[in-house]
Amino acid sequence: VRATRGGEEIKSYVPSMGQIFLRRFQMVTQFRQAIEEGQVTVHYQPKVTLPDKQVLGVEALVRWQHPEFGRVNPDEFVPAVEAAGLVGVLTSFVLDAALDRVRRWLDDGLRISVAVNLSVRNLADAEFPARVAEALERFGVPGELLTLELTESDVMQDPERALPILRELSDLGIELAVDDFGTGYSSLAYLRQLPVDQVKIDKSFVFGMGTDLGDLAVVRSIVELGHSLGLTVVAEGVEEDLARDQLEAMGCDVAQGYLISRPLSEDRLEAWLQARTARSLDPASEPVLTL
Ligand code: C2E
Ligand code: MG
Ligand code: MG
Ligand code: MG
Repeated sequence: VRATRGGEEIKSYVPSMGQIFLRRFQMVTQFRQAIEEGQVTVHYQPKVTLPDKQVLGVEALVRWQHPEFGRVNPDEFVPAVEAAGLVGVLTSFVLDAALDRVRRWLDDGLRISVAVNLSVRNLADAEFPARVAEALERFGVPGELLTLELTESDVMQDPERALPILRELSDLGIELAVDDFGTGYSSLAYLRQLPVDQVKIDKSFVFGMGTDLGDLAVVRSIVELGHSLGLTVVAEGVEEDLARDQLEAMGCDVAQGYLISRPLSEDRLEAWLQARTARSLDPASEPVLTL
């Protein structure tokens, strides 16, 4: 495919299956070294309460700046890393970075929780809860400042096997969240049998709710059922004022999305947090966030 823009020729091509396979193969063989070399970093996306917009936590989202491929999306490399049996390496790296971040916030007098995404393969590791307990201890972070997110389809893949591990994690005081809710086949009633604290409504429904009554109905029913089961309901993918207003009217507890902030590098997150605090201490100023 060729195109020109401003006289400059832009070349792009559609990769073949072989090229995709080769790229995935390279990525998994290079993953450990990429971590050691600092190519893999953690970005953080703020989550705010509705309606008062307090920052209650951030979600840790992994990023890979590959020397050859450029920025590689986690939707591409996380599945490859999982398939290669390397997800333990990924999770420990992200967990350590996230807990270190929370530790430094605590030292500055801030209580901000962090959410780390797990893979179903973490639940196949009987030692996983002990590893998490060790990391909490090492950083001196109380369990309630850590949330672990598992997608609905991952939890439902083998709930019998997941249950004892989830119980152990829950006993550490950690919050457990079911991510991408609404895309799988489970019912909230079934989730009641798991020690889950939060449900995150999948962003596809949140994107659609302004124009699609079906999406709106799905979101509303997750909020209502979630609340009746005593769960905190989080909406991801909040991009527009309308969605924020609709969620607030339904009583959704927490919002996350580009409207509030994109995922940010550590430095940019610090600046974002400081700008908010500075504004809120100065009553004359406009709120930095008009959510
Ligand atoms: P997720 O856990 O559901 O994370 C939310 C994704 O939605 C993130 O994509 C985030 O950047 C994106 N997002 C948030 N708000 C908006 C919005 O308003 N609009 C749009 N268009 N997107 C929004 P990201 O960072 O590309 O991550 C994709 C997925 O990769 C994550 O979905 C999660 O399943 C996985 N992932 C990311 N980091 C990790 C990790 O450290 N470990 C594991 N196992 N998986 C991870
Ligand atoms: Mg998540
Ligand atoms: Mg999600
Ligand atoms: Mg996802």
